[in-house]
Amino acid sequence: MSATAVAPFSLKDFFKSFLLVELFKGMALTGRYALRRKVTIQYPEEKTPLSPRFRGLHAQRRYPNGEERCIACKLCEAVCPAMAITIESAEREDGTRRTTRYDIDLTKCIFCGFCEEACPVDAIVETHIFEYHGEKRGDLYFTKEMLLAVGDRYEKEIAAAKAADAKYR
Ligand code: SF4
Ligand code: SF4
Repeated sequence: MSATAVAPFSLKDFFKSFLLVELFKGMALTGRYALRRKVTIQYPEEKTPLSPRFRGLHAQRRYPNGEERCIACKLCEAVCPAMAITIESAEREDGTRRTTRYDIDLTKCIFCGFCEEACPVDAIVETHIFEYHGEKRGDLYFTKEMLLAVGDRYEKEIAAAKAADAKYR
């Protein structure tokens, strides 16, 4: 049977608790910050700034002429540590190679950004979008069509983020 340790009596601690010293210290701290500029924000109406390198929802990009950038080199699939990317490819009639399947399982993805770093043609990118969710199994399994749709919708923001980050690369 183990004995319960009892803290030794301290006269100093007794008077500190008797005189509510800790309470007044806390109130003084609150008072010091009450009139300062607020650092909290009212999310979702207000949002904090995001880095151009923020890694959110993935997107597949196109060139301005509408041609998809991805050349099915599969570097992103090879580098993905979570094995979240699945690619199948085929040669087109014009001799170029394109993906016939490009899926990302976002429930596996750890948002490391390796796929974006590995891509030689800036096709797969991670956008600034972080407000998305899935309600049932499979909702976060993004197909090529879904990824291209994200890219089409946010191309302006994606291009701006790439341009802002270019001088640091
Ligand atoms: S961000 Fe990382 S884990 Fe997610 S798909 Fe890309 S390489 Fe894989
Ligand atoms: S997204 Fe980029 S890295 Fe991945 S297969 Fe396409 S071209 Fe290659």
